[in-house]
Amino acid sequence: MKKTIALVGRPNVGKSLLFNRLARRNLSLVHDRPGVTRDRLVADCLWQGRTLTLVDTGGIGLEDASGFSEAIQQEAELAITMADLIFWVVDGRAGLTPLDQEIAEILRREEKNVFLVVNKMDDPKQNFYENDFLKLGFSPTIAISAAHGRGVTELMTQALHALPENEDNEKKNSSSFSNAIKIAFVGRPNVGKSSLINATLKDSRTLVSEIPGTTRDAIEVPYFRKNRPQQPYLLIDTAGMRQKRHLSDELERQMTARTAHTIQRTDVCLLVIDADRGITEQDKKIAGLIQKAKKPCLIIVNKWDLTRGIKWEDPSLVSQGRAPKKTLTFQEAFQQAIHQQLFFLYDAPIIFVSALEKKGLNQLFAAIDDLIKRSQAPIATGPLNRTLQKLIQRHPPPLRQGKRFKILYVTAVNPTATMKPPTFLGFCNDPQLLLPSWLTFLETHLRKTFHLDGLPLIWQWKSRKSHASVATQTKKMRKNNERL
Ligand code: GDP
Ligand code: GDP
Repeated sequence: MKKTIALVGRPNVGKSLLFNRLARRNLSLVHDRPGVTRDRLVADCLWQGRTLTLVDTGGIGLEDASGFSEAIQQEAELAITMADLIFWVVDGRAGLTPLDQEIAEILRREEKNVFLVVNKMDDPKQNFYENDFLKLGFSPTIAISAAHGRGVTELMTQALHALPENEDNEKKNSSSFSNAIKIAFVGRPNVGKSSLINATLKDSRTLVSEIPGTTRDAIEVPYFRKNRPQQPYLLIDTAGMRQKRHLSDELERQMTARTAHTIQRTDVCLLVIDADRGITEQDKKIAGLIQKAKKPCLIIVNKWDLTRGIKWEDPSLVSQGRAPKKTLTFQEAFQQAIHQQLFFLYDAPIIFVSALEKKGLNQLFAAIDDLIKRSQAPIATGPLNRTLQKLIQRHPPPLRQGKRFKILYVTAVNPTATMKPPTFLGFCNDPQLLLPSWLTFLETHLRKTFHLDGLPLIWQWKSRKSHASVATQTKKMRKNNERL
């Protein structure tokens, strides 16, 4: 199980630079302005053959108008609680500051292993207020230069030594970031992805680049719900080009590539749509990326506050959708239009929210939890095959080159604790005879019967030819069916 190291310290001591050096990537912006890397970032770091999870807590102790703000302190405490080891980073050139003393107090209260990392020691001959730092009583105290790399290997060697690989501590492991469920907010620019993450975190923790035209990588923010402290989430915000309303072809290509990359590495996709605009071509393209990557998905209609007072009969609001029936509410009509236009997105549940008014967020997380729960629910073989038989009778697979696709037996692969789409292993006469349109029919009905909406289905087909023991499998199936 991966161990977690949290980098804590006041702003501007060089945490981001150290984080980037350890993670070997240029994820967080390093900047002279304190507080520019306020958000918490997480990355895997490979060191001497071992992978560790690294958490950069950003500007802990960042002083806002009210001084040492409560929200920031909570953020620090959370990171500290989650960590197996803490690197407390201080500035060796500035010496010990009152804020450092406050952080020392917080760290002393936690019974955690703390390394005091004295940074900016570019020159070995430099005086680093050694006595002041040693007096704090944190051991070891290690001088490094994040900028030049001095002392970093020594730091990591000692860290690995302090983090034994096979420590049998289930409780600790179960709450570490390594089992976090990754949730990516994807969507075109300006639909409110960052606002939604910020609203979720209830304060501005997502980095918004103020420099026009700059782009950033996707940002991952660890997150817990108060009611489920044992389940960590990683909220992923896709890189945005927020200043641009109309994207040039090149920018659009870059955005698509980056969104596709984010989708690939997430567990759950939240496709964010702007209620004010309805479904656009770009939304459909992104939905297509999710479908192609076969990722579980929820559709989030944001800015729902803007629809207040709107007469729902106006079909132009639901771009390109058919005029809704009079008996529907505006919300139902909107829902119907989405399902019509994103018909290929496996009946993803639709949640209406307003990041601005912080409304619908509880439903959003309830829907996420429900999606995860449903993806992990086992599907019994008996009911599954009985449903299949009924569907085949009702709508037999069409002929292909004079031959018909035949299913002998399908079994759901047992779900694991990690988030994976439902996977089916099917034995058939010949997978080549399976027509995609017929599989879509099958999937639509299986989704309804087994509550799999929002979940892609993964199929592994084995043909009679490649599977010698199909006869035995079929016999076994019949026996199972009789028993069930
Ligand atoms: P954070 O706020 O703690 O994440 O700090 P940053 O990583 O953003 O660094 C703050 C400033 O200190 C930047 O200008 C860095 O270039 C500088 N800095 C960080 N590490 C070193 C170092 O080892 N040596 C020197 N000379 N400067 C450093
Ligand atoms: P992103 O590019 O998808 O990350 O979008 P942002 O989070 O930067 O939001 C784009 C714009 O939409 C900003 O001006 C937000 O203030 C606005 N916005 C975001 N969520 C809402 C909402 O729920 N209601 C309203 N009325 N505006 C919102």
